Amino acid sequence: MTDDIKKIAEELFQDIIRMRRELHMYPEEGYKEFRTSEYIARVLRNAGIETTTGIAGTGVVGIIKGEAGDGKTIMLRADIDANTIREEVQCEYTSKVDGMMHACGHDGHTASLLGTALILSRLKDKLKGNVKLVFQPAEEKLTGARKMIEEGVLDNPKVDACLGMHLWPSIPSGKIIAKAGPVLSAGDFFDIKITGKSGHGSQPHFTVDPISAGSKLLNELYTTVIRKIDPSEAAVISVCSFNAGSYYNIIPDTAELKGTIRSFKKEVQDKIHKNMQFAADKIGDAEGVKIDLAIHKLVDVTENDSVLASLVRNSIKKIAGEDSLEDNVAPSTGCEDFSFYSQKVPGVFLLVGCGFPDKADNSPLHSSTFQMDENCLLLSVQVFVQAVCDYLLS
Ligand SMILES: [Zn+2]
Ligand SMILES: [Zn+2]
Repeated sequence: MTDDIKKIAEELFQDIIRMRRELHMYPEEGYKEFRTSEYIARVLRNAGIETTTGIAGTGVVGIIKGEAGDGKTIMLRADIDANTIREEVQCEYTSKVDGMMHACGHDGHTASLLGTALILSRLKDKLKGNVKLVFQPAEEKLTGARKMIEEGVLDNPKVDACLGMHLWPSIPSGKIIAKAGPVLSAGDFFDIKITGKSGHGSQPHFTVDPISAGSKLLNELYTTVIRKIDPSEAAVISVCSFNAGSYYNIIPDTAELKGTIRSFKKEVQDKIHKNMQFAADKIGDAEGVKIDLAIHKLVDVTENDSVLASLVRNSIKKIAGEDSLEDNVAPSTGCEDFSFYSQKVPGVFLLVGCGFPDKADNSPLHSSTFQMDENCLLLSVQVFVQAVCDYLLS
């Protein structure tokens, strides 16, 4: 089977690149992936794959039923949305949509899953059980996965395991991170509104200054709140927006801070939330301002199931050799809504190297100069197909 998979993947590789470039030229924002969704459905239907569109708006689901007997159902997920970033690199397939680009590699994820689907549909006479191909909208908004689940993507047939992947420019193409345990962090957003009393900049003693209170709170978040977390645990708080006032000599009434929290364990996440509230109350009392803190939980940690991870690692070794596994890396503080699926059914999320091996400074995800070494797509397709075959035939 492994030799067949390699051979078919190599035959289809140029088609996979062509699909990725086509998708790259027409990036679309979350829930507006109309053209992308149509494109996906057309490729699947042309391959004779049963396809449903319009799930969670622009989501597409294909199903391949194995012809060698009944069995389990494995779900493969790709995210299909792009970013509101103007692409800076000029090439023959540069984004044709001004101010939008696939800067997170979701064009690669989509093309890779389409390639995987084409190969699996050619191998279906050898498969037992089902493969569910899930093309999910709005990952960047971190809401697409939840909507797909609400609309029944894990049912009918019931999904027993799920696989997903993200292209990863900080490791070279040819390498894959596939470890058991946490891969990506939990992510929260927060809003802080500080209300004081406005007045003249020359007479601060008649005011209650929200800017001064906000800067004290920011320092407290970066020092005491984080210092209360066990140093062996990973956690980060970043204030990414601090807005207050509009003129040289007017102390304003309010200041607003927005930011994000990342962590890998529920206990750590809960402790940060509690400590942030404590810091807000303390600074509020000390400074005489009113501080409203609202924390919005976005996604939980993406954690790989140990049994499934071990199966997938063996599949990777079989198809690409032991050297392709990259184990010497810590979990990333990025986050993913794939965690909504993998909390419900055992899941594995792979980080597939897409950096150019001969380039020291590959642009990061979400950069206007992000590019991928497309050779990574051959490996990702081969690994997905091998893992599906190993899972369904195990
Ligand atoms: Zn992204
Ligand atoms: Zn992404």
